[in-house]
Amino acid sequence: MSMPSSAHNKPPKPSVGEPAKPSNFLRQTIESDLAAGTNAGRKWGGSPGDGAHHAAGQSDPAKIRTRFPPEPNGYLHIGHAKSICVNFGLARDYGGVCHLRFDDTNPEKEDQEFVDGIIDAVHWLGFDWKANGTTHLYHASDYFDFMYRAAEYLIKSGHAYVDEQSAEDMRANRGDFGKPGINSRFRDQTPAHNLARFRQMRDAQHLDGTMVLRAKVDMASPNINMRDPTIYRIRRAAHHNTGDKWCIYPMYAYAHPIEDALEQITHSICTLEFEDQRPWYDWLLEKLIEGGLLQAPPPRQYEFARLNLTYVITSKRKLAALVYDHKVSGWDDPRMPTLVGLRRRGYTPESLRLLAERTGTSKSGGWTDYSTLEGCLRETLDVSAPRAMAVLDPIKLIITNWEETMGGAEGAQGGDGVLDDCSAPLHPHLPEMGRRNFKIGREVWIERSDFEETPQKGFFRLFPGNRVRLKYGHVIECTGCGKDAAGSVTQVHATLVPDTKSGTPGSDAIKVKGVITWVAVADGIPAEVRLYDRLFTVPQPDAGGKDFLASLNPHSLKVVRAVVEPSLANARAENKFQFERHGYFVADRIDHTPGKPVFNLAVGLKDSWGR
Ligand code: ATP
Ligand code: MG
Repeated sequence: MSMPSSAHNKPPKPSVGEPAKPSNFLRQTIESDLAAGTNAGRKWGGSPGDGAHHAAGQSDPAKIRTRFPPEPNGYLHIGHAKSICVNFGLARDYGGVCHLRFDDTNPEKEDQEFVDGIIDAVHWLGFDWKANGTTHLYHASDYFDFMYRAAEYLIKSGHAYVDEQSAEDMRANRGDFGKPGINSRFRDQTPAHNLARFRQMRDAQHLDGTMVLRAKVDMASPNINMRDPTIYRIRRAAHHNTGDKWCIYPMYAYAHPIEDALEQITHSICTLEFEDQRPWYDWLLEKLIEGGLLQAPPPRQYEFARLNLTYVITSKRKLAALVYDHKVSGWDDPRMPTLVGLRRRGYTPESLRLLAERTGTSKSGGWTDYSTLEGCLRETLDVSAPRAMAVLDPIKLIITNWEETMGGAEGAQGGDGVLDDCSAPLHPHLPEMGRRNFKIGREVWIERSDFEETPQKGFFRLFPGNRVRLKYGHVIECTGCGKDAAGSVTQVHATLVPDTKSGTPGSDAIKVKGVITWVAVADGIPAEVRLYDRLFTVPQPDAGGKDFLASLNPHSLKVVRAVVEPSLANARAENKFQFERHGYFVADRIDHTPGKPVFNLAVGLKDSWGR
């Protein structure tokens, strides 16, 4: 366990483009620890290790150490993004280092696919665990030897015992909130006896579930986590890293504090559910420091409120159920709150970092409205996404006097039909992004909903006798429509009002109330557009143990055949655009090709759910 050490002690520098961070209780804690020198004497052995390993090292160049410790049993979701931003963000801001640690102490559930997915997701969010030549990527299973040694120490020093009560007795004797627990009849065996039994456990001489190793803390503690927690169990299962070496595995509550200590984590940040575990966390590390196995000072645990988003489920187990029951197309379905899903939907890393910042880091929980997430995406895309016109529900508009009015027009072209050139800025506020060019001709696609034969009150777009502007093009006057045998409108008719082309002198002499988007039949590109909506119809789909599958939104995906302007011919997977009047769209990461374009709705222009 020795690697070149890092010298990551630059002063915090404000990152470009991000506003000054509001303070919070974690920042205050770190700042006061730094001021008081709480962690100043710490040594770092260049890699994770026990007390002796670190004592032989140099003074830790990292001012603080945090970690993001996912269990590789699924894809990361938006709640994890919050934790990643908090942990990596604090390390970055305070001259520290954040470790990526795979918490893989549970032999059964882990998978390399998830490990790779987690690495990709953290990188994609914009964070890295390399600091000056050291790659701080660790596996909790690499610490099994130490955890075993620590368990033997606890036994020898009278702090742990092998309990052979049945599982039912153990549960009954644990007591509950109102009732103290009862000591196990195995609690006062000698250390020598316990050590022998524990080694038999390790050597596979007992069946799974027949006995466990427990810490000897306090069966009468008001905190149930302190009532002699189990620290090792027998489990005959192969582990993806250690194979068949072990048939006993440490419990999470035992493993986690040790992992933090071996890695010299200073601030171990977790969510509020772990608050009641803190006394145990401190108890365990204190004992191991007393025994000389670990270096003081120990890491400290801090809890903050988890991110809860309305209309979203953030439990890997439940997300897995959606995938395995084929309710979605996979972990990366654009409706999933996984980072691969959000990415495919068109979410940017900036938008998720903004959400993490905006939702704050505090001790009090609550629900963040889904529209806050959408707002973050809109904000980041508004300033960066090129604009384009797309018609999502096309109906043909025929400009019946096109040839007469355009025949001699400047810039008009002959050929199959007379076409005129139009152009528009790629971004209304960023002229340096350049312009886009497209044609207009006798036939253009418009949105079906932009025509009403008998208009509702307040409808200002196309109806017989009314004038509108084709955006970036001309003013037209609606003259009627064509219908099929069933009476459905199949095309809309209009005449062009001469000398009204956008950008030409006097073009705005004629005032209109409506402006509509369109794409010329001549140069429009057919595209598949996937219109996504929320996956659930209720704000808290899994609250109170509810069956979340019962509130799946049956209309969460609608696929339409659209026509998009020719500037989108060059769109590459993951390019994002604002389709004017519609919202922000992304070229699908998996299915889009320039020859067969596929765009996903990332977010509409306005919040349509809040009202
Ligand atoms: P799940 O229940 O979805 O499996 P988990 O917490 O068990 O989530 P881990 O892989 O153990 O998943 O989590 C890694 C880290 O992410 C932990 O520190 C955990 O506290 C944090 N985390 C998970 N969900 C959220 C959330 N909604 N908000 C903030 N942090 C979260
Ligand atoms: Mg977990």
